[in-house]
Amino acid sequence: MSSSSLVGAEVTVVERIAEIRSLVTAARERGEIVGLVPTMGALHRGHLSLMDQARRECDLVVASIFVNPTQFGPSEDFARYPRNLATDLRLCGQAGVDVVFHPAASDVYPPGFATFVDVGGLAGVLEGAFRPGHFRGVATVVLKLFQMVPASIAYFGQKDYQQQTVIRRLARDLDLAIEIRTCPTIREPDGLALSSRNVYLNPQERQAARLLSESLHRAAQLVRDGADDLDRVREAMREVLRSSPLVQPDYATLVHPTTLEEVATPLPTLVALVAARVGTTRLIDNEVISLADPLNPP
Ligand code: AMP
Repeated sequence: MSSSSLVGAEVTVVERIAEIRSLVTAARERGEIVGLVPTMGALHRGHLSLMDQARRECDLVVASIFVNPTQFGPSEDFARYPRNLATDLRLCGQAGVDVVFHPAASDVYPPGFATFVDVGGLAGVLEGAFRPGHFRGVATVVLKLFQMVPASIAYFGQKDYQQQTVIRRLARDLDLAIEIRTCPTIREPDGLALSSRNVYLNPQERQAARLLSESLHRAAQLVRDGADDLDRVREAMREVLRSSPLVQPDYATLVHPTTLEEVATPLPTLVALVAARVGTTRLIDNEVISLADPLNPP
């Protein structure tokens, strides 16, 4: 165990799997509620909002920082994914995180590693269709993190809507003894969802990137105004995205909130999801559209 105190608050850094497991197990045995915030580092206010929520609800807050190689495709940005441990540790300390778990890839995936988790249909659509194997890597590392850090509650962001859906399915299907919490998406003032990948955008691309959230707003507005042909809403979303030549849509759609199946006509709750390449950077975003009357829910 090492301790890092860089300006402000102090955070304990644990690299060894056996050490984090015994530290968390001892806390649970004392009756403490332990929160886990899994991240890949390059922390921003989105990650910090998850840590804040964990701090409010838990006695011990653990954040993991691990850039998981198995969730990146061979032509994706694993090697150049932003990494800045010193800044991340300072931010974790300021956010009130007690322990940062930062394992080595060679400990998470030792030689001979061969077991992967496959979450079936949910993992094959949308992001899964454009990033084959992505959710297999995500589900595998999340299940492993839950084993290494046997927390009471794990915190995920709505920003990665399909990811939290896949993880909820994983937790149910495999009877995992952990609660899954999903926290709201944190955005820039112009609507762009915060993402570690936003640093790749040049100023023109950064400007065009706001079209993702704009296309979601357009969908929400049309649905709330009574649009009943959702294919036309999808077309309107693509139109917003295509209003800049810098944006190449991968998908723009409306789905059922838990099955992620495309729907033809509105449901009380729908999720609009977009993925697009802005220059060479691939961004995703989503918005939950609820038509239910809050005073008279269905
Ligand atoms: P990552 O480091 O990208 O794997 O993200 C770690 C966690 O932070 C995931 O649960 C993400 O969904 C969440 N997250 C990322 N960006 C945001 C955001 N803008 N708002 C809220 N949560 C976020």
